[in-house]
Amino acid sequence: MDILAVVVPCYNEEEMLPITFESLRGKLNELIEKGKIAPESFVLYVDDGSKDKTWELIEKEHETHKDVYGLKLAGNVGHQFALTAGLHKAKDICDISISIDADLQDDIDVFEDMIDKYHDGCDIVYGVRNKRKTDSFFKRFTAQSFYKVMNFCGAKTIYNHADFRLMSKRALEQFANYSEENLFLRGIVPLIGYKTECSYYDRKVRVAGESKYPLKKMIALAIEGITSFSVKPIRFIMTLGFISVILSFAAFVYALVSFIIGTVEPGWTSLIVSIWFLGGVQLISIGLIGEYIGKIYIEVKRRPRYNIDKFIS
Ligand code: UDP
Ligand code: MG
Repeated sequence: MDILAVVVPCYNEEEMLPITFESLRGKLNELIEKGKIAPESFVLYVDDGSKDKTWELIEKEHETHKDVYGLKLAGNVGHQFALTAGLHKAKDICDISISIDADLQDDIDVFEDMIDKYHDGCDIVYGVRNKRKTDSFFKRFTAQSFYKVMNFCGAKTIYNHADFRLMSKRALEQFANYSEENLFLRGIVPLIGYKTECSYYDRKVRVAGESKYPLKKMIALAIEGITSFSVKPIRFIMTLGFISVILSFAAFVYALVSFIIGTVEPGWTSLIVSIWFLGGVQLISIGLIGEYIGKIYIEVKRRPRYNIDKFIS
């Protein structure tokens, strides 16, 4: 039977953790009783350099319960890296992993559905929110815009999916090959490429503690996502340059006509044409340099170039 590792990043979650311990334990026991997962399954709590009693709570829980594992990071590295640390750790000691936030806003009742889909041959199962009615209008709006902008800029992400997902052991192993520094999980996981499926659920409100993702961090995450995934913004500069050069011809015709009609100050014609034309040439040049930087950027990531699903001989 498969050992399940639930990976939970925690940052200053002392108010939430006692509830989380209880809920996740109940869920694991239920799944073990149903024979869906091995009795050795566990929950791995990753303490992301919390300043409150988070780690003490994890340690204490570990003493009394063998299904509670803890990983303490030396400092606060942020949700994405904390989760990555947990997944890397879990890779060698589990068969399936499910990552979920400590606040349990994502529905733990879909674990079962995810595991069933895994048994049906999926290596990655995304938890996808049905609606966002519990979030404030502002949060909903910013989050929706986030996905739209991200996809427009070339980072393919699953709509309404946060970091609540099941990954099989081999998906985790492949994930570990992505050694890039700027890590955006939601963009990388779809690149792994194995068979995937979605499990749908309603997102709940946070019951204790407060959101650690204020607008500032959300914007930072969006910028991180876009810039670590695509060179589209660079291409945009080039496009802008070409548009300017084309406009410079229009400006040329306009300036020439004005000159012939004689309604202009001396010197204006040559100035206006030069501004448009040179502006365009400069933008194209910057875009061209950017193209090369983009290449270097893709190159230094050293991403795995392929991932083998099956081999028969
Ligand atoms: N988190 C973390 N490090 C951080 C910030 C947050 O590990 O620097 C964890 C946090 O404990 C929670 C998850 O990331 O388990 C998501 O954070 P939160 O629920 O505050 O975000 P929201 O759901 O409001 O987007
Ligand atoms: Mg939350």
